[in-house]
Amino acid sequence: MANIQLKDVRKSFGTVKVIKGVDLEIKSGEFMVFVGPSGCGKSTLLRLVAGLEDITSGQLLFDGEVVNGLTPSKRGIAMVFQSYALYPHMTVYDNMAFGLTLEKGSKEQIRERVTKAADLLQIGQYLDRLPKQLSGGQRQRVAIGRAIVRDPKVFLFDEPLSNLDAALRVATRIEIAKLHEDMNSVTMIYVTHDQVEAMTLADRICVLRDGVIEQVGTPMELYETPDSLFVAGFIGSPK
Ligand code: ADP
Ligand code: MG
Repeated sequence: MANIQLKDVRKSFGTVKVIKGVDLEIKSGEFMVFVGPSGCGKSTLLRLVAGLEDITSGQLLFDGEVVNGLTPSKRGIAMVFQSYALYPHMTVYDNMAFGLTLEKGSKEQIRERVTKAADLLQIGQYLDRLPKQLSGGQRQRVAIGRAIVRDPKVFLFDEPLSNLDAALRVATRIEIAKLHEDMNSVTMIYVTHDQVEAMTLADRICVLRDGVIEQVGTPMELYETPDSLFVAGFIGSPK
């Protein structure tokens, strides 16, 4: 778990301003969802929190410590993307153990962590298979499992379900919610453009528009008292 603070965070690519001053505090153990239209900066903001991009100005703090400039692994974060980039020539087990092997845990410790994560995600019976022998949903679980074994303090998801069909999307969404509970309420930030995902998963939703925060609140607050038609339109409230 970690408490995350963004203080006047800005990001430009060349002369193009993409994130234009974001102030936000995400509580330890909170499930925060970023929503907003395509191109508004959701992925960029997530990548800044992850440390995959450097912020142009402002401050980013984890548990009160400035992490600007720290690598993703130093920040204790794990990230799951919409395209589950598994190593095609490695088994499910090796895919999940890969990050741990680099950290030099003992073989038994690694096996224990991989097995535990695989059980949690109900992929224990597929550990010897190659990714191509799995369905899309199973592959996405392996990608999530690979993140879990690293025991992250912060879990970041960028539209993890958008490549799945409707039924699998619902099933995996429920699993992610369960994961949040099972992992002792690890801090999660979840990007989506899907209102249903946002409403059902979030403790709080942060609505982004053109690089700034339009409104932050619980699903109920945004639904019942949207600050603008933009938020109402996005959350689907009858305003
Ligand atoms: P979203 O995830 O909300 O769809 P992104 O964060 O991917 O939006 O992108 C926000 C804006 O930043 C877009 O206009 C995009 O073209 C631009 N952008 C993102 N990454 C880069 C980059 N590496 N170089 C230049 N422009 C970028
Ligand atoms: Mg995106």
